Formats: sequence, structure tokens, C-alpha cells
Amino acid sequence: MSFKELGLSEPILKSLEDLEHTKPSEIQQQAIPVILAGKNIMAAAQTGTGKTGSFVLPMLEMLHEQAKPYSKNVHALVLTPTRELAAQVRESVHSYGKLTNITSTAVFGGAKIFPQKAKLKKGVDILVATPGRLLDLVNQKAVKLDQVQILVLDEADHMLDMGFIHDIKKIIAMTPPTRQNLLFSATFSPEIKKLAQSLGD
Ligand code: AMP
Repeated sequence: MSFKELGLSEPILKSLEDLEHTKPSEIQQQAIPVILAGKNIMAAAQTGTGKTGSFVLPMLEMLHEQAKPYSKNVHALVLTPTRELAAQVRESVHSYGKLTNITSTAVFGGAKIFPQKAKLKKGVDILVATPGRLLDLVNQKAVKLDQVQILVLDEADHMLDMGFIHDIKKIIAMTPPTRQNLLFSATFSPEIKKLAQSLGD
């Protein structure tokens, strides 16, 4: 199974080639076609399995195929528990998407808010964020989430462990109910299952 057979197209294939990612990992083989078909997924995945590519690659594919009628709006939102993971996911978006016209940024706490606001003002297609800082930015009217088509909860179990559940629920309520939901978690506790169910309401 090649990345091309999974439904990815140039210029994403070219970036993968440059990165010497020759073969999709197990989770990438399973998740990419399902995500490209527009379905919601709930995936059990540890770091190191290629899980980031399993949602970043189809997300880039879907957004790159769209004409961008609302270029100033966020089309895909990735929530992560930590600033380190946010930066890492954004780096993947950047490297896999370097030959597309898709724009992205990461926002997280513990860093100055003004430069983050300035980037958001220019408009980004893919926003990677930690929940608390994202809510601050929404409250300051620096970003709107009403055009989000794809919502990713990355390391959802860590986000719940860190007490982000109320922030996550507030954020979900600001996105359109028609969005596609992608939930990644290393474990599937009853809390995670409850969160997954609430995404479908
Ligand atoms: P992740 O599990 O998303 O944290 O990815 C772990 C590492 O594997 C990262 O350094 C990726 O760049 C790398 N990686 C992801 N997918 C592939 C692939 N299909 N082939 C080779 N390396 C990959």
C-alpha cells in the first residue's frame, strides 16, 4: 500500500518523498482513507506510530482540494494537551504541506499572545492550539471557529487528565455541528467514550 493508493495527491506526495516517508504506517493505512471519505474516527494511537501524519495528511488533502471561499476562517482545528505537542503537530502540517497553499499556525499558553493574534489576523486554514490559550484568543475576538470543518482532539486522554474537559466542551460548542470529528487517544476510559459521544450530539 502506497501513499498514492491511499488517495493522496501531488504536492503532498512530493513532500512525503522529500521526507523519505516511503510507506504509510499501520495507523496511516487505516485512518487516511476513512478520513478522506469524510467519516468521524476514534483511534487508539501512541506517539511514535505515525499518528500525526494519519490526520495531518488527509486534512491537507481535503483542504488543498477546496477552493477557499472563507480564506480568513479556520477550516481545521487541532486541540492538543501541551505546547510541545502543538508545536510538533504544526511542524508536521508545515512540512507535509509545504508545497500547498495551506496556511497554519500554533497557539499555546506560556508564550506572548500578541504575535499569535497578529498571525491569526492574517487568516489561517489549520490552527493547532492548546485549549486555554485558544479560549483566551476567542474571547479577545482574535479568532472565530464557526467555519471549522474538521476538529481533531489529539491525545484526548491527556487533555482530560489535565482538566481541559470544560474548555474542550466550550470550544466544541463554538464549531459547527456538521464538522468531521477525529479523536486520538492512547487509552479509552469511560470519560473518553463520553467525550466521543458528546461530539456526536
Ligand atoms: P508520530 O507518531 O506522529 O509522533 O510520528 C513519529 C515519527 O515518525 C515522526 O518523526 C514522523 O516524522 C515519522 N513518520 C511518520 N509517518 C512516517 C512514515 N510513513 N514513514 C516514515 N516515518 C514516518
